[in-house]
Amino acid sequence: MEVELKRLEQEAESALAEISRVDDLEPFRVKFLGRKGLLSSAMRQLGQVSPEDRPRLGQLANEVKQRVEQSFEEKKAAFVDSAAINRSVEDLSLPGRILPFGKLHPVTQVMEEICAIFEGMGFAVAEGPDVELDHYNFAALNIPEHHPARDMHDTFYVSESILLRTHTSPMQARIMESQDPPLRYIAPGKVYRCDSDITHTPMFHQVEGFLVDRRVSFADLKGVLTTFTQRMFKDDLALRFRPSFFPFTEPSAEVDIACVICGGSGCRVCKRTGWLEILGAGLIDPEVLKMVGYDPDIYSGFAFGLGVERIAMLKYGIDDIRLFYENDLRFLSQF
Ligand SMILES: [Zn+2]
Repeated sequence: MEVELKRLEQEAESALAEISRVDDLEPFRVKFLGRKGLLSSAMRQLGQVSPEDRPRLGQLANEVKQRVEQSFEEKKAAFVDSAAINRSVEDLSLPGRILPFGKLHPVTQVMEEICAIFEGMGFAVAEGPDVELDHYNFAALNIPEHHPARDMHDTFYVSESILLRTHTSPMQARIMESQDPPLRYIAPGKVYRCDSDITHTPMFHQVEGFLVDRRVSFADLKGVLTTFTQRMFKDDLALRFRPSFFPFTEPSAEVDIACVICGGSGCRVCKRTGWLEILGAGLIDPEVLKMVGYDPDIYSGFAFGLGVERIAMLKYGIDDIRLFYENDLRFLSQF
């Protein structure tokens, strides 16, 4: 009996030591400590031993059972502890989880940058309607009906007198009509033309800017545009003003910057010329000033219009304007 108890204790201890999964604990308890378990049936045999040995063997059996129970409880506690550790302690050496978050569209980013540069020079920002009256889009800008310049605009008409604005210049007429000089405004926004290819989309973005005051000259225009392009691209960027024609400015100029890709030596982007066309500008035509009731002998002003996508393409070296509107995250996430 005594040998049998000690053998049972050893068997229980070694079985317990081999347990590595929490699921194996319950079968062990049933086998050794349960009501019909090995230890219980060993104790029932105490009734068959001689009365003089019974107290000593009874005590021994109880001690064995208590030791096995204690070992079992310790093993169980160890599993509970390690489970708690797994739940509550993170590995602090692991890198943090990066949450995906959205970004501003590259066109929006460039538009905000353009506005910030002009605001830094004291220009106020004004936004106008996308659906515009023919009057503000054309007539008020010295483009009367049947003027050939209308053909260049590929206009989307809503009705005979209402259209989707083809440039942000209507804001120039709207603001001048309602305020007196001095005026210094930029008007950023969407414009629409019935045109689509590698450098044109039916909807694109422009920033119109104008300034009206006494004795405003072409030199002021050159100063403002030089400051803008140098802040937008780089400090020592060269500028070139080419004579051009717009109905609402006189004289008019198209403005080129030294190619930002090759630095002026000639490449595919600048078509070997070393120059990139970036915006149109000029002194506001006296006829436009007269139409809003300003006296052109007292006031003069300049205006310019620039394409936001064009500037974004030059700034980031993008060769197809349609990439901006395909919503491809592989493209958009690079900005
Ligand atoms: Zn170039």
